[in-house]
Amino acid sequence: METRFKKPLLDWYRKNSRKLPFRGSKNPWKILVSEIMLQQTTMETILNRYPLFIKQFPTISSLAKATEQEALKAWEGLGYYRRIKNLRNTALICCKKFNGKLPKKYSELILLPGIGEYTAAAISSICHNEKKAAIDGNVTRVISRFFSVEENVSKSIGVKKIKKLANKILNSESPGDHNQAIMDLGSMVCTPKNPKCLSCPVSKSCSGFNSGDATKYPIKNKKNKSPEVDVAIASIKENGKILLVQRPAGTMLEGLWELPGGKVEKNESIKEACVREIKEETGMSIRVDRKMGMVKHAYTHLKVRLHIFEASIKDHKKNGSRRLIWTNVNEIETLPIPTGTKKALSIIRK
Ligand code: SF4
Repeated sequence: METRFKKPLLDWYRKNSRKLPFRGSKNPWKILVSEIMLQQTTMETILNRYPLFIKQFPTISSLAKATEQEALKAWEGLGYYRRIKNLRNTALICCKKFNGKLPKKYSELILLPGIGEYTAAAISSICHNEKKAAIDGNVTRVISRFFSVEENVSKSIGVKKIKKLANKILNSESPGDHNQAIMDLGSMVCTPKNPKCLSCPVSKSCSGFNSGDATKYPIKNKKNKSPEVDVAIASIKENGKILLVQRPAGTMLEGLWELPGGKVEKNESIKEACVREIKEETGMSIRVDRKMGMVKHAYTHLKVRLHIFEASIKDHKKNGSRRLIWTNVNEIETLPIPTGTKKALSIIRK
């Protein structure tokens, strides 16, 4: 079974691999950046953003020298900002402990911030030929279909089964190419809906295909629908500058700058939420003057409706919970800003 998977897969890969800006590289830094970016970001976005990021930070030490705000700015719009913070922390550790290089072994890589089993396996196999199967969503889908895995892959029993099978079929002579080949197969051929089984190099031995119901796999928990929340935010201007607040430590989008405001609670109006949230965050009492508009933004687990108000300060006697900055429009472009706030700013600028 393994041979009927490995060889046709590798033959197919050598003719059909995706043309990606990091493909063919054995530079561990470039592979690390690509793998971290690929988590939670679409390939279309990465094709634009990866070359720019690598141009700005061509080496580990170049990112280690950057401030956290510079790193966040370079990651702007990619979301999941924890990734860039971890990447920068990894760069700092590598400069301190490993002479500005990433360690080679899986067992050492996995100890670094933000490097999980998948990324450690991808780097160690692609760059150093270590025999480790890299297992992401694409690989899980291919393997669960090829072997008709009946265990739920959202549960540890299914995860273990996939891991066992992935390592069993790993091509020990070319583990890096093998890992990239399954990723490409999952992304180009064995797609979530309508897999192209008739042009798949391993269809002859694929249990899922031969059972006539490949899309039954992988068996996993159904995703809950993302909740929608209303958020009230305000444009407060003084002397030609607009007020922004910094996202606090330990929260989503930590360190980025946004318009003040927050989530509307039960039993309060959107305007009341705007006044309350701004008082909490900035210590300011405000007057809400008018509604400017509304924008929607979706995170993977949450959808928000951002209601934008124009407001003015009644008094400012106390400090709030957030760090504040008054900035003009040109300065905004130098700060790391979340995408939802950018959408709101485009309404304010109209
Ligand atoms: Fe996926 Fe179909 Fe190929 Fe099986 S034959 S691995 S289900 S694309």
